[in-house]
Amino acid sequence: MPWYRKLHWQILAGLVLGLVYGIVAAIAGWVEFTDDWISPWGSVFINLLTLIAVPLVLASLITGVSSLADTRKLSRIGGRTIGIYLGTTLVALVIGLVLVNVVQPGRSVPEEMRERLSAIYQDDASARAGMAEDARERGPLQPIVDMIPSNIFASVSNNRSMLQVVFFALFAGVALLMIPREKAEPLIGFFDSLSELVIKMVELIMRIAPFGVFCLLASTITDLAGDDPSQIVELLRALGLYSAVVIAGLAAHMLITYATLISVFTPRRLGEFFSRITPAQLVAFSTSSSGATLPVSMKVAEKNLGVSEEVSSFVLPLGATINMDGTALYQAVAAVFIAQTLGMDLTMGQQITIVLTAMLASIGTAAVPSAGIVMLVIILESINVPAAGIALILGVDRILDMCRTVTNVTGDLTVSTVVATAENQLDALPALESGY
Ligand code: ASP
Repeated sequence: MPWYRKLHWQILAGLVLGLVYGIVAAIAGWVEFTDDWISPWGSVFINLLTLIAVPLVLASLITGVSSLADTRKLSRIGGRTIGIYLGTTLVALVIGLVLVNVVQPGRSVPEEMRERLSAIYQDDASARAGMAEDARERGPLQPIVDMIPSNIFASVSNNRSMLQVVFFALFAGVALLMIPREKAEPLIGFFDSLSELVIKMVELIMRIAPFGVFCLLASTITDLAGDDPSQIVELLRALGLYSAVVIAGLAAHMLITYATLISVFTPRRLGEFFSRITPAQLVAFSTSSSGATLPVSMKVAEKNLGVSEEVSSFVLPLGATINMDGTALYQAVAAVFIAQTLGMDLTMGQQITIVLTAMLASIGTAAVPSAGIVMLVIILESINVPAAGIALILGVDRILDMCRTVTNVTGDLTVSTVVATAENQLDALPALESGY
């Protein structure tokens, strides 16, 4: 197949064209036209992907767990997966904290700019702080209570309740393993067929991915620039160093931590691995949602990397919900940056508190755009930094959200490849017939 017909080149072209169009539109004042005629198609694309995320998590986790031979195998794969997830998140946090403490981006924001940023984003910041209010006022065990649904139908009808869906699916999968096979078979068959259906739907949706990505990028740029493109330049000047630290941290985590895991623990060559996961990374970048990217990641893991269905259908839905290294790293950098900008020095104890709370916050962060900044409020509270400080960083949050989502998704794909290798379930490198 000629290279230009490969999906990831087409998506990349959509991304670049969207970027160029966005800049031209902002300068030429086509913001209203873009809002009316281009942005809605981006929303259609995200909706199509999110539409199938809940059925996919439910069906693939139930079939994934119930297809394992016994509960011993489940605890082995589960233990390995969760262990690597937590380990990589910890490394991400350390990278973020080291970078932000060494570079100290908060010290370079001029006083006058700090006041302006706070003023511009104050309303938005209080709205988000309000969203985190409930979470803050509850007891320490509330996250566990929140994870257990009291009505599964309510959970599956809310994309933000993915953690509850994951809990139910794991629970149901284990219970299915425990009942006689002939009784379990019809249900397993049903969920198996549901996950096949969803995977086919992803394939169809991905045909419009280049166009969807174009529309998303175009509208993101025009939204950011508004009617005054010079605003972007000003924002970048004040928050450039902070953004650079976040992006450098995310890149370092991918190019050092994940690259080491792939080259030491799997037979895949690095270039091969990264080029084959590009479609998932590009969709993550343009949708800013690991939940919306999950269907694509599953397809990429199975079709491009050769990860068995048994492993991918367990590791990836779990990862999309609880493993967010990019988000954790960003939250650590952002918390320290805000403290630096406000002239507050953080003690070692406070930095350790950041590690612990960011670890939990990233697990609890929903796999949807901007969820990370809401959870950041909880981290700020835990180290006694005013939550209103998020007003300082809101201006560049969308761009950083796009980047951290790429790291989140790359982390899940890395771990799925490592677990598949350890379980002897990584096939020979598949041919890329599907055009992915
Ligand atoms: N957008 C991120 C994700 O879905 C979550 C975040 O806001 O950090 O992975």
